[in-house]
Amino acid sequence: MTHSPATVVICGAGIAGISAAYHLAVKQGVQNVVLVDERAPLSLTSDKSTECYRNWWPGPGDAMVSLMNRSIDILEDLARESGNVFRLNRRGYLYATADEARIDEMRRAGEEAASLGAGAMRVHSRDGDYVPAPDVGFENQPDGSDLILDPALIRKHFPYLSERTVAVLHARRCGWLSAQQLGMYLFERAKERGVKFVNARVESVDTTGGGVRAVRLGDGTTIATENFVIAAGPFLKPVAGMIGVDLPVFSELHIKVAFRDDARAFPRHAPLLIWIDAQRLPWSDEERALFAESDETRALLNEFPAGVHARPEGGAASPMFLVLWTYHTEHVEPVLPLRFDPHYPEIVLRGLATMLPSLQTYFGRTPRMMMDGGYYTKTQENRPLIGRLPVQGAYVIAALSGYGIMASCAAGELLAAHVTGGKLPPYAPAFTLERYQDPAYCELLKNWGASGQL
Ligand SMILES: Cc1cc2nc3c(=O)[nH]c(=O)nc-3n(C[C@H](O)[C@H](O)[C@H](O)COP(=O)(O)OP(=O)(O)OC[C@H]3O[C@@H](n4cnc5c(N)ncnc54)[C@H](O)[C@@H]3O)c2cc1C
Repeated sequence: MTHSPATVVICGAGIAGISAAYHLAVKQGVQNVVLVDERAPLSLTSDKSTECYRNWWPGPGDAMVSLMNRSIDILEDLARESGNVFRLNRRGYLYATADEARIDEMRRAGEEAASLGAGAMRVHSRDGDYVPAPDVGFENQPDGSDLILDPALIRKHFPYLSERTVAVLHARRCGWLSAQQLGMYLFERAKERGVKFVNARVESVDTTGGGVRAVRLGDGTTIATENFVIAAGPFLKPVAGMIGVDLPVFSELHIKVAFRDDARAFPRHAPLLIWIDAQRLPWSDEERALFAESDETRALLNEFPAGVHARPEGGAASPMFLVLWTYHTEHVEPVLPLRFDPHYPEIVLRGLATMLPSLQTYFGRTPRMMMDGGYYTKTQENRPLIGRLPVQGAYVIAALSGYGIMASCAAGELLAAHVTGGKLPPYAPAFTLERYQDPAYCELLKNWGASGQL
């Protein structure tokens, strides 16, 4: 069987493919866009995220901050037009440290972010004009960041943080949303403009003559098309392989835990909380002695890296909070179903208790929880791939790593501009595959600094 010909076939109905379809059909008026996915829309990685967003990204250059600022502009417009169906908030990201030596680093990060377009940094040494973030809504909020160094002010606004906390940096054009609701909103608008969804596996792509001709599906059907967009999430590499393109990407496994907080130990009104210090986990002497005895558990006594982060989930009455801490970042082959480290919930809870001592109530009696997660598929410098591929009519919107929800709107818009030959924004070259052909860029890659990954 053959489907009717499509102007564009998109492989993957995660947030990237759906945003691409939305921008092509709704914003650019492209007819006959077909989304193909072997799973239900948004069900592989895009509904497993922490659903946070930020315009807080390191350089070099302002491409990441510009992409995210544009994406957040679109998110805010969509929230306004939809009555905020996806519950965009603006609680911010709160980076906290107990290490005096890190204060200069925080200050430099704030200055760098400001210079890249994330907004000015305000330093608060004593009570002053710090404006706390509201629980809900996103309008009329400050951008940039607040660096708070006064212990009394930290205590006043964030009484739940460890008393050892010496500085917090509150990045303000940040928060979270419902990724599922956002994705479904875009998907419904796209379907209203004629986007079709085909539930099948893309098996191969006919590129006879050096250009895209047709897409063959696992159910034996074929879709004739001259434009093929790869939005395959963790399966980016094999799908690009179908058109003979080898992409420079790899994957890491990232797991998230949703804990049920019956003891009400987690602060419900908090921003996303991030502990930026490396740490040894607070085990008892007895536990320490026990873990030291076995090869399997000895690693629990090692130093763990910075970056445990958490946020409340749901409204004020919800008992849930989410925690993420990727202390292993090996490159792995994406395999399903995911495999979980049985120690993970206890480890993240202990690590989080260093920042939030009230969680010590759960030591030795881990609360009810659910683990899920997925793969960050990424490039070496943790920047996405959005643009043309070296086969006529082939495009990519992928390698969205741990920021695909927040970047999805601007990424979809950028992809649509590439496909339709529209005007490209100044940040477009930073995300094309061709960037790796620029010797100056390859030189830069040898000493790439921070990746911005949480
Ligand atoms: C634990 C965790 C926390 C995260 N937290 C955040 C966060 O706070 N903020 C944020 O912005 N991002 C976050 N992310 C990242 C974000 O979830 C991803 O970047 C994003 O979901 C990627 O979307 P995608 O559409 O590229 O991929 P996916 O959602 O994986 O979609 C790809 C789709 O392609 C389909 N597909 C692949 N191959 C084929 C084929 N051959 N035929 C048919 N279909 C195919 C798959 O079935 C899948 O549905 C997080 C990710 C994880 C794992």
